[in-house]
Amino acid sequence: MRVVIVGGGWAGLAAAVTLCQRDVDVTLIEAAAQLGGRARKVEHHGLPFDNGQHLLIGAYREFLRLLALIGVAEDSVLIRTPLRWLMRHPGGAGVDIRAPRLPAPLHMTWALLHARGFNYSERLAALRACAHVLRPPGAADDITVAAWLQRTRQTQRVIDMLWSPLCLAALNTPIASASAAVFTRVLRDAFLHARADSDLLIPRRDLGAVFPEPAAAFIRRHGGRIIAGERARALISDDACIRGVRGTRGDYSADAVILAVPPQTCIKLIADQPALTALAANLNTLESEPICTAYLHYAPAIPLSAVMNGMAGMLGHWLFDLAPMDKPGWVAIVISGPGEHMHLDNEQLLTALRQEIAGLWPSAAQFQEGFVIREKRATFSCRAGIDALRPPLRTALPGCWLAGDHTATGYPSTLEGAVRSGVQCAEEILRDKAAR
Ligand SMILES: Cc1cc2nc3c(=O)[nH]c(=O)nc-3n(C[C@H](O)[C@H](O)[C@H](O)COP(=O)(O)OP(=O)(O)OC[C@H]3O[C@@H](n4cnc5c(N)ncnc54)[C@H](O)[C@@H]3O)c2cc1C
Repeated sequence: MRVVIVGGGWAGLAAAVTLCQRDVDVTLIEAAAQLGGRARKVEHHGLPFDNGQHLLIGAYREFLRLLALIGVAEDSVLIRTPLRWLMRHPGGAGVDIRAPRLPAPLHMTWALLHARGFNYSERLAALRACAHVLRPPGAADDITVAAWLQRTRQTQRVIDMLWSPLCLAALNTPIASASAAVFTRVLRDAFLHARADSDLLIPRRDLGAVFPEPAAAFIRRHGGRIIAGERARALISDDACIRGVRGTRGDYSADAVILAVPPQTCIKLIADQPALTALAANLNTLESEPICTAYLHYAPAIPLSAVMNGMAGMLGHWLFDLAPMDKPGWVAIVISGPGEHMHLDNEQLLTALRQEIAGLWPSAAQFQEGFVIREKRATFSCRAGIDALRPPLRTALPGCWLAGDHTATGYPSTLEGAVRSGVQCAEEILRDKAAR
């Protein structure tokens, strides 16, 4: 069986790894010169950075399983720390929540009951929301996270210091429009099953070295082909069945094709397939959200006591210390979703962020240089009702499959969602093959 995979992001690579391991003849074509898609390495003055600071959690089970399968030791590429929610505020009244080493969900109960910076009623409000996580809205009666927080009687401070930044970090969609069904699913996955699920996993190497490069090596070792710098232009089909993919350099025949590309690209590739008209219309309803990452270098460094620092009520959302990633003095500031920063050019944004840093850490740190990366279509917009819009992996054109973080995995637009879609798609193809 020959399978052509279009797209060398984490979804396409996960599908290729799964198929190669089962002796399927795999060809993966990727338009860019490098693999990784929206989670890739970029260089700045010869130093490796990422197209955006990424954070993973212990609940990314499918990704961690695949990492072990391709022979990468978790601690060689990721720093694992117990959950710490350190949210700073320009006024000084921050919040510090730490998960102790107790079994789930006791660890979260303890963490919220002892949350520093919350008073007694704020702690109880946060716990009340956790109890509601067990009675989530379904896909049919989905509501916004803001409405769900109102239903669970959260105080404004708990929303500002905990739920709103958590929702933006997990779904990259503001609470006013984000899906409560997806948000509560993420909360259950991360906090209610096993303590280690809530661990924070921060890449210690550039993202290319975390997964795309070792995955590519695994695929090649198992006989797969990877062609970078090759753009798919159309699908080849006859008798309402897939026959392959037309690329800029030639045709690639296949018994099955996986389109592991974002919705906008997928729409173009399937445009002349009558069987996929409804899918194209469906994909067209998915909107996207941006993420902006500013990298700043200080010497001497900012005196940070934590790797991950929340910035409540500020332009910046999260400040990551990159010193443990061999970049002493460098920090990454993440701004999720849309916002005021979109009206500033890069120089103005860096100036504003430096002022926020100076307000939070008024010490001898000295700014040296900085740069900004804006990803306009970083994730799909995870709005209320989104579950009903996400396409399944199997399409109406026999042999044509989808993968990618936007497919119906139930997960938000994340690395785990991408990997799950790729693995599930490969497994469905293998099941179909076995049934024939
Ligand atoms: C700045 C930023 C920060 C993020 N932060 C986090 C985070 O902290 N945690 C988290 O879990 N997730 C995060 N995400 C989301 C995560 O990166 C994505 O969900 C994931 O990378 C999507 O992978 P994918 O394979 O589904 O899609 P993509 O990565 O988009 O892969 C699609 C691939 O297809 C290729 N392609 C497109 N058209 C063609 C064509 N015609 N022919 C051949 N190839 C083509 C593209 O070049 C690309 O490589 C972040 C994303 C961004 C951008």
